[in-house]
Amino acid sequence: MTAVLYRLGDTGPAISEIRSKLTLLRLLDDTAPGPSVFDEDVQHAVRHFQQERGLTVTGVVDATTYRVLDEARWRLGDRLLSYVVANPQSGDDVMALQRRLSELGFDVGQVDGVFGPRTGEAVRELQRNMGLNADGTCGPSTFKALDRLAPLVTGGRPDSLRASEVLRRAGKRLPGKVVVIDPGHGGSDRGHTGHGLEEAAIVADLASRIEGRLAATGVQTFLTRGRGAEVELDEAARARFANETGANLMVSLHVDAHTNPDASGVSTYYYGGDRPGTTSAIGEQFAGLIQREIVARTDLVDCRSHAKTWDLLRHSTMATVRVEPGYITNPRDAARLADPDFRDVVAEAIVVAVQRVYLPTGEDAPTGVLHLRDLAQA
Ligand SMILES: [Zn+2]
Repeated sequence: MTAVLYRLGDTGPAISEIRSKLTLLRLLDDTAPGPSVFDEDVQHAVRHFQQERGLTVTGVVDATTYRVLDEARWRLGDRLLSYVVANPQSGDDVMALQRRLSELGFDVGQVDGVFGPRTGEAVRELQRNMGLNADGTCGPSTFKALDRLAPLVTGGRPDSLRASEVLRRAGKRLPGKVVVIDPGHGGSDRGHTGHGLEEAAIVADLASRIEGRLAATGVQTFLTRGRGAEVELDEAARARFANETGANLMVSLHVDAHTNPDASGVSTYYYGGDRPGTTSAIGEQFAGLIQREIVARTDLVDCRSHAKTWDLLRHSTMATVRVEPGYITNPRDAARLADPDFRDVVAEAIVVAVQRVYLPTGEDAPTGVLHLRDLAQA
């Protein structure tokens, strides 16, 4: 998690800016602006905002919350939108544009509020269709065209329908598939620690077990962290790397931690927020499969799958799932994580979930019964 920038009790100009942003979003009622204090009303509004946006609900403003809060002020039509290679535009207006284009049947990929090359191509396509100058920039004439067009698809989730279609067309055989494995920590970033264990070491070991098994089934794998060459990329950069591989799926590996040593269990996360059209349906499906397989094969507590908008999930264009198989701070989970046999079981569960993503419904074997040898023959 990112460091806390502002919290309960803080004062100053940044707090009045936060207050006015929350007021604009109708999450705070700042009719009589008094002293610029991060009071309990602000804390409540921040929690509400984080909940709504699929961020971790903490009530404190960290760098991610601050950025998302800043992006939330843009309404479609407020500014020109176009694809800027070096520094892509992001915000609520971009998300509204993507949702609108998607409803009209244009392929924008994931509705993520980031103006990437696919959004640019979709704008050009729209402009060509409308007889406008196809420059890929959304200005007044394009906004007007968008207003005039009635959606082709309503009530559905066109982006997610398309994602499952792409996977279905990819076929059910594993050879030739591309999967990115993201060890969540490495190099000088050791992640959470507990009971003599380091998260970075656990996820590196898990990654190589998964990589070996996938290679045995003919799947091409990429790791977001190089061996030896420790270039440490942040989540957004690792997502961009994954996008360039043309992968179908990405698995990000972490373990959980909590100040309460009783917290335990396995969770999975996929891209999504509370707002309609923003959830990756295929990501949700993949997360559910990994969750089920791990729960069926281990005695970890089932902490379920959850939608989040963390950078890696948001910026990756394939179905991405973050897996946290156990709490390093819980004595029983830590003992499991320290055991190579347990890590083997988790790796196998994830590889079987990868295969299940491609199996058409109906051909699915019951959870927990598929093994690597069956996959190699499939
Ligand atoms: Zn982690």
